[in-house]
Amino acid sequence: MSSTHGPIQSHDYQMLIDGHWVESHSGRRYERHSPAHDVLVGTYPEADAKDVDIAVAVARRVFDESDWPHTSGAERAALLGKVSVLIHENAEELALIETLESGKPLNQARDEMGWTCAIWDYAATLARHLRGDAYNNLGPDMLGITVREPIGVVGLITPWNFPLLIISQKLPFALAAGCTCVVKPSELTPGTTLRLGELLLQAGLAPGVVNIVTGFGDPVGQRLCDHHDVDMISFTGSTRVGKQVVAASQGNLKKVTLELGGKNPQVLFPDADLDAALDAVVFGVYFNMGECCNSGSRLLIHQDMADKFVPRIIEHAKRVKVGDPLDPATKVGALISDAHLKKVMGYIESGRKSAARFRLGGNRLITDKGRFVEPTIIDHVTADMPLACEEVFGPVLSVIRFKDESEAAGIVNSTMYGLSAAVWTRDLDRALTMARRIHAGTVWINTFMSGPQELPFGGYRQSGLGRELGRFAAEEYTELKTIQLHMGPRTSWWAGLPR
Ligand code: NDP
Repeated sequence: MSSTHGPIQSHDYQMLIDGHWVESHSGRRYERHSPAHDVLVGTYPEADAKDVDIAVAVARRVFDESDWPHTSGAERAALLGKVSVLIHENAEELALIETLESGKPLNQARDEMGWTCAIWDYAATLARHLRGDAYNNLGPDMLGITVREPIGVVGLITPWNFPLLIISQKLPFALAAGCTCVVKPSELTPGTTLRLGELLLQAGLAPGVVNIVTGFGDPVGQRLCDHHDVDMISFTGSTRVGKQVVAASQGNLKKVTLELGGKNPQVLFPDADLDAALDAVVFGVYFNMGECCNSGSRLLIHQDMADKFVPRIIEHAKRVKVGDPLDPATKVGALISDAHLKKVMGYIESGRKSAARFRLGGNRLITDKGRFVEPTIIDHVTADMPLACEEVFGPVLSVIRFKDESEAAGIVNSTMYGLSAAVWTRDLDRALTMARRIHAGTVWINTFMSGPQELPFGGYRQSGLGRELGRFAAEEYTELKTIQLHMGPRTSWWAGLPR
């Protein structure tokens, strides 16, 4: 496969500690090849636990001794706004890095830059609105005050599927609260996070407030979670590693927030706007190659309409162009790695061995470079199959039929996940009844995967702990302190006893 975008350049990155661009203490480095083009696109320092200790010590000192946690909300808001402008000004370069490291379509990566700027702008508004409460109802001699204080040193650990977008669901809110941070991007896609580090310094952020350490999950992420000088971990990634994060964090009982996997259903009733649903089903499962926590990987379809509607989905899915992510017509780019390709193909093979029926795709595309999988539709999947309850994280749609609302709700809630879901119907009563029965952090009605920054996002059950975005997003990075102020004479402990 040849690139339509000219020669692909590689970049040698360093990591950011205390405002300096540095190598790992061991001097070791590692490489990343584009998963779509198999060419070198970046080399990075390979940090280990000692580098994490150095970065945490810096973040601790800056939190405990510098002015940063005490800056005004207005100053922090101004800084976050500048970062948004700089991301916008560098969007084309950032999008290209994202595409080359992750394999996602460049046009989509460009869109993600716009969404990222919107999050930094939104976090800026929260920086000015962090506040506590006053309690003037505690009697004539008592005033109660609660104040929000930054929680301290925060470790931010991110995955490879939306590298800049996901760090931007964490970092600006941690900064809005006044925390200091050590960031660990996925080893596969650190480029845009490191470029973001440059933009933060350019915007005027003081050295050491944000430190970025590159390397592998274990030891870098593991050491961050173990570290007793880290007060909180905000993690996005798989449920499997999320459990390791919780276990490793127990040593100092640090706060942990988790954004984990999903097996998200779109539930389709016959009275829905079927043209709109058709588009959303295809977008929902093939967006970002299906490597998406919100991927609409399960279609629950009413049995009365399935035989007529599934062929329409197949026709629509055939229009999805798979291939070079630099080609503007491409909708589905490359999967992230050989290991992940193997996992996705394993799920497809499990479907072949079952009673489910393949209606589209089901194969790796034969190309001389890269790792591409055909948009796949598997019909007559039943709720007990791995394809119905495990996260495939690839372009694979499992179609499950149901007979009524109760059965649909039961199937929706039958996995360990609870991230998101969609209900398609014109019947308001049915829509809201379903929305209330579904155990998920987000339920869309007659739309899919929209995400205004004002609305909180996160998972029920094994899809996560805590919420990102929304008006409480900055509060996640704070402690709540109670101050009690007594006025006038205080009743003595000895009052009422004989003298
Ligand atoms: P992983 O869980 O494999 O990795 C996530 C991050 O954790 C990476 O930076 C990884 O580093 C790091 N890590 C690995 N091992 C450890 C460890 N022992 N301790 C601490 N950190 C560690 O997830 P993926 O990167 O494969 O991302 C895909 C997953 O992310 C999917 O399950 C998806 O659903 C989920 N996700 C959830 C979202 C949500 O908002 N709910 C959004 C996006 C993705 P390294 O890369 O070096 O291994």
